[in-house]
Amino acid sequence: MDTAAVESRPVALPPLPFDQGALAPVISANTLSFHYGKHHKTYVDTLNKLIAGTEFADMPLEQIIRATANRPEHVAIFNNGAQAWNHAFYWKSLRPKGGGEPPPELKSLMQDSFGGVEQCKKELSKAAVAQFGSGWAWLVQDGGKLKIIKTPDAKTPMTEGAKCLLTIDVWEHAYYLDYQNRRVDYVNAVIDRLVNWEFAAENLGSR
Ligand code: MN
Repeated sequence: MDTAAVESRPVALPPLPFDQGALAPVISANTLSFHYGKHHKTYVDTLNKLIAGTEFADMPLEQIIRATANRPEHVAIFNNGAQAWNHAFYWKSLRPKGGGEPPPELKSLMQDSFGGVEQCKKELSKAAVAQFGSGWAWLVQDGGKLKIIKTPDAKTPMTEGAKCLLTIDVWEHAYYLDYQNRRVDYVNAVIDRLVNWEFAAENLGSR
């Protein structure tokens, strides 16, 4: 393979922020090898093929996503671009030995917006389980408040004016090897044991 060509790709596959085995037993190394090494990589590779020679070729990923959102003629670029972004954001939303107490500022916002940390976790779990078919559950900041939302397929709150704090992938490929049809068990295990509240707190904006 031509290394220079790989390095000059417009959009890169970011490295996983942990070892492939580091999230086990909640998410196995086997799941991560397919989810990161095949699914995420394919979104990035497909995006790069689709944007080559177009007006989007030199744009940063976030700009590609905003420029193609809600434009039916660019749906393939949007879908692959948003999935590339959503997955990179999802990996950062997880950490080995995650869960536990959120940092104070985030905790206090959870108190204001949901009535407490437990209520926030319950809302997040409910949205992740209720998303019909493939999609994502999100903790976002919108107008000074925290909100839980769910999005179908590749859709991302990033294009709707909300600040993304954290996400959980609820496409079947995220959990099927480890949990089969038991999405609720995957979601609750992620929220209790992997969720990266520190990352969510770092994403908080000042508005
Ligand atoms: Mn996925």
